[in-house]
Amino acid sequence: MNITIVGTGYVGLVTGTTLAELGNSVYCVDIDEKKVEAMKLGKVPIYEPNLEEMFLRNIQAQRLFFTTNLKESLEKSDVIYLALPTPPGEDGSADLSYVLKVANDIGEMMTSYKVIVNKSTVPVGTADKVRATIAAKTSVEFDVVSNPEFLREGFAVEDSMNPSRVVVGSSSEKAKGFMSKVYQPFTNIGIPIIFMDEKSSELTKYASNSFLAVKITFMNEIANYCEKVGADVDKVRLGMGSDDRIGNRFLFPGIGYGGSCFPKDVKALIKSGKQENFDFQILEATENVNISQKVILVSEIENYFGGNLRGKKIALWGLAFKANTDDIREASSLDNIKLLLEKGAEITAYDAIAEENVKKILGDKISYASDMYSALENADCLLIATEWSEFKNPNFKLMAEKLKNKAIFDGRNMFPLELPEQNGFFYKSIGRRTVG
Ligand code: NAD
Repeated sequence: MNITIVGTGYVGLVTGTTLAELGNSVYCVDIDEKKVEAMKLGKVPIYEPNLEEMFLRNIQAQRLFFTTNLKESLEKSDVIYLALPTPPGEDGSADLSYVLKVANDIGEMMTSYKVIVNKSTVPVGTADKVRATIAAKTSVEFDVVSNPEFLREGFAVEDSMNPSRVVVGSSSEKAKGFMSKVYQPFTNIGIPIIFMDEKSSELTKYASNSFLAVKITFMNEIANYCEKVGADVDKVRLGMGSDDRIGNRFLFPGIGYGGSCFPKDVKALIKSGKQENFDFQILEATENVNISQKVILVSEIENYFGGNLRGKKIALWGLAFKANTDDIREASSLDNIKLLLEKGAEITAYDAIAEENVKKILGDKISYASDMYSALENADCLLIATEWSEFKNPNFKLMAEKLKNKAIFDGRNMFPLELPEQNGFFYKSIGRRTVG
């Protein structure tokens, strides 16, 4: 099939590359000319494990193309995916201006039947808005389908090539036929397409992300309570997770969730609820707990230094919102940096993958180290904000030599307690006994 993807970010690029890998001809459209030029030269604009190889293979095979020209791509394609940003507006609701602008352009440009597939995360009722926007510009037949994306950054290629399910919201049999054809390679290997109406499909995405945000936050509260009563969250987690009604995933406590999805989707669902006079009380609590959880270790660091962080040098391992991505949107690291700087501390950060993105927004407000150990040079303590694999089994002797104080504040529970304990460190993690 010939497919156009509008918006070539984390979702659009991975979706486009995956659909090309499945044998389709895919035209990726973006308004960012620099990005398009770079992609034409074979440069992947984001960090995502295993993406580059598949991206290059499909460019080589002439199945994957990049352009800024929406009109030309539309003419060649029957199915048009929208993978556009839906950032939070000032009031927290999803900003639909990118989606509706492109819907308007499509309405003006299309000359034959198209299936418009919305992959962006959007509030219930957006398919109707997209339909109305296009219909205002054309009398040509078209359908609008909701097809939310469930990929995880860091595992995006794996998730896109082997999704647990594909959700398609459509009231048109014709559009469902096109979607069945696009996803036939998945149904062939037993991955289900779950068909439903557009509104239920749109809500499925928000409900899924919000549920995961609640699950993480619930566990963070259990962890905080463990500290009060002397329980160990690792044991509680294992005990809970082996009940298959609960499952063992998303039970790891830490310094809150971030990223481009959970915070914005929780906010947007709360806001959508308010528009219907409906209070999502559990989501409001989740959002509030997460805001304080993100910086919960700052007061611990402050206490460790007798209440004064002025002039203290803090080494920070990890800037990305989670491991295996360069994405720093709503990353806990940034909340910690902001608060620590306000309190007069100095920060030297290390994150080989996300450093460039942080430099773009923080510049020289903090220093950057070229490796994890040089970040510790003369630092008063270490704070860990991202669970990168390279931090999992560090050389504690070398760390002790570099740090002024053998103190680690670990927002991602990277080590079994015995490791820092045997090496004589003060070690504060989340939901476990403080060592040292
Ligand atoms: P992104 O910011 O990485 O990418 C969006 C792209 O759209 C950018 O390259 C931008 O230049 C381009 N764009 C903006 N306006 C355009 C226009 N008029 N024409 C063509 N291109 C245009 O965003 P993302 O992370 O890929 O997210 C896209 C959507 O998918 C959002 O709704 C998000 O909530 C949802 N989503 C994201 C993830 C994720 O893990 N990132 C997962 C599931 C769903």
